[in-house]
Amino acid sequence: MTARRTILVRLPKDKCDIDYIRRLMALANLAYRGFEVWVPDLPKTVQHQLYNFKNFKESLLFGIVPKRWLAETWVPLTTLRVYPSGSRRGDTGAPVVIDFKRGTIKLRQVCRNGRGYVIEVPMPKWVIERDKEGGDIKFARIGLKDNEPYLALIAERDVEPYQPSDYILAVDVNAWNNGIAWGLIKDGNIIKWKSETPNLREIDNLYNLSVELSRKYGRLKRLGLDKTEEGKRLWKKIKKLRKRLYAKLRDYAQKLVYRLVRKALRHKALVIIDDMIEESRRELLEMKLPSGLKKLYLMYTKRFVKLLATQLEWYGVPYRFKRLYSSICPICGHELTQVEGRVMICENCGFKTPRDKVPMYWAITCSRL
Ligand SMILES: [Zn+2]
Repeated sequence: MTARRTILVRLPKDKCDIDYIRRLMALANLAYRGFEVWVPDLPKTVQHQLYNFKNFKESLLFGIVPKRWLAETWVPLTTLRVYPSGSRRGDTGAPVVIDFKRGTIKLRQVCRNGRGYVIEVPMPKWVIERDKEGGDIKFARIGLKDNEPYLALIAERDVEPYQPSDYILAVDVNAWNNGIAWGLIKDGNIIKWKSETPNLREIDNLYNLSVELSRKYGRLKRLGLDKTEEGKRLWKKIKKLRKRLYAKLRDYAQKLVYRLVRKALRHKALVIIDDMIEESRRELLEMKLPSGLKKLYLMYTKRFVKLLATQLEWYGVPYRFKRLYSSICPICGHELTQVEGRVMICENCGFKTPRDKVPMYWAITCSRL
């Protein structure tokens, strides 16, 4: 099985021509749709790159055909890897040179239209880590995210999932604000379980503040005052707040994924992930929360699941998606009733346990099937 992980590298904006990258993205979009358009004023080498990709686009991680016309398509690029020993792998004419010897990444002619235009950025430590884990970065993509230029490096690694021991790690994905519950199961017994929640108060505060300032900004805009010093300052502040909010959520998701993956590896566990995003969505909708915050929580719930699956694959941890219910009795299948303190009881058979622990019993049931 080939596992893949992406490493995002932010490119210096002042050394990149955003319009040029946007044009390359438009060409990439066309190439995906099977059109070959040769533009006279763009470097031939870059265009050759693009059309060479057509031949193996089905197999590509670059994956799916963009859904809409003119949807933003990141430009696929080949790479040359230079190792400390001096040995090289890949395409010598590649626009992306990953130089482990010098610790830099060089980009040729993809950041600005100009003969021999090259920029060099320091290599993030993640690149070195993925390389050490046996990942090879055969491809990269360049593109814009929120109008900022980025390079995405795609590390590939052949990995066989291990044979699981008698441990199971069950991961129940709730709506983000109720967090993630996990349980470690051995021979059908829950030996440890925990419910993890992000620091909600901090997140709520950041969110509310950004909404408040956005309203203020909206008022200025209606008065035509958004381009004044005050307006600009306010906009900058809003952007900064949002960035902090996203960073907090992302950071939380990444750290939790990291811990769960380590836990699974340590016990050679089989991981069972609850795949019920739909239930989380409904749970969220019923809550009294601002809709923007609900959207944000849902987005990060999905991201968490994706991140977890990607990393489990990367480290060869076997995993399955199963429905892990939290409101159906794992013993008799009767509906559970929630009582005070998020405790669930079964009126049919007397089963009683904290709500976040119910899915762990379901994981045991699933593993016996
Ligand atoms: Zn029951």
